[in-house]
Amino acid sequence: PVHSEPPKIHRLDEAVVNRIAAGEVIQRPVSAVKELIENSIDADSTSISVLVKDGGLKLIQVSDDGHGIRHEDLPILCERHTTSKLSKFEDLLSIKSMGFRGEALASMTYVGHVTVTTITKGQLHGYRATYKDGMMEQEPKACAAVKGTQIMIENLFYNMSARKKTLQNSADDYPKIVDLICRFAVHHINVNFSCRKHGSGRADVHSVATSSRLDAIRSVYGVSVAQNLMKIEVSDDDPSSSIFEMDGFISNSNYIAKKITMVLFINDRLVECGTLKRAIEIVYAATLPKASKPFIYMSIKLPPEHIDVNIHPTKREVLIKLTINGDLKRVSLLNQEVIIEKIQSAIESKLRNSNDSRTFQEQQ
Ligand code: ADP
Ligand code: MG
Repeated sequence: PVHSEPPKIHRLDEAVVNRIAAGEVIQRPVSAVKELIENSIDADSTSISVLVKDGGLKLIQVSDDGHGIRHEDLPILCERHTTSKLSKFEDLLSIKSMGFRGEALASMTYVGHVTVTTITKGQLHGYRATYKDGMMEQEPKACAAVKGTQIMIENLFYNMSARKKTLQNSADDYPKIVDLICRFAVHHINVNFSCRKHGSGRADVHSVATSSRLDAIRSVYGVSVAQNLMKIEVSDDDPSSSIFEMDGFISNSNYIAKKITMVLFINDRLVECGTLKRAIEIVYAATLPKASKPFIYMSIKLPPEHIDVNIHPTKREVLIKLTINGDLKRVSLLNQEVIIEKIQSAIESKLRNSNDSRTFQEQQ
């Protein structure tokens, strides 16, 4: 038998490795927006505005009023694995920030052109720097700035023609971006969010900081949603089964919709959980006569050691499959069955009670 020569193994160029990794972290424009907003929230911003051109392919710009970035950190800002949020592996157990890998900004520079403008407290002017392939292109230039950071991504996927074509041929990401910001706005009620398309005078999402969750839901999803919601709370402190707290708003029997809306945060991370969503749909279908699809906002808090945030977005073997806009979130849960059952029974009794009292009112 003739054996062909085995192909020679060689080391990939770092630039190739980085571009491949970047394409996983930033799968589409909405994933870049999510990373940028999470950075703004991590920077303690109270106001975050997003501007989008051509579904994010031409331009994504996120401006915040957070703590800004130190001048001396700008040179390494967009290198891979540079972060201000994590130092030791053990920090992951108690991490409060959404980011910690130091990969998002770096990734953006491998698949787009990144410009950062930032000012820190007490400074008279800010700095602007541009980045490509992980590197700062020139010394930062002094410039006028008010407060916080503005990050601009231009020509996303300019160097990934297949991805760019696919995205150009399908519906653009703008509705996904609006949907994402609505979700953040309902959870982070102390932050003003706004989002608009380039060239449009009107914002498509505009939330004003408030202390009332219901007000936030009203301003984002409208009166017809907000007026048909009930508050729900469940907590469990039995260490042998599950320790968790849930609070949220769920729609009552007057709410009519063709599709379920489920806004879910676990330990302040925006996630999607198919298992929990289906479990809730089952309760609604079984309890309400005119089985309408529900609106659900839920915030679940678990002991940090019960969730594993260090799951790569490309790995699927998590206990609960958590996805947001096709992007797998890095959260896995302990005791999911117990938690889901307790949430189901809380929703069921809430729905039965409200239905009974309505029937009672109608009879009077
Ligand atoms: P990570 O969020 O995982 O740390 P990123 O690549 O998203 O990694 O960001 C790198 C670092 O840049 C962050 O750790 C943070 O210090 C800084 N940074 C990014 N965006 C902002 C922002 N909007 N405001 C202040 N600092 C920021
Ligand atoms: Mg980040």
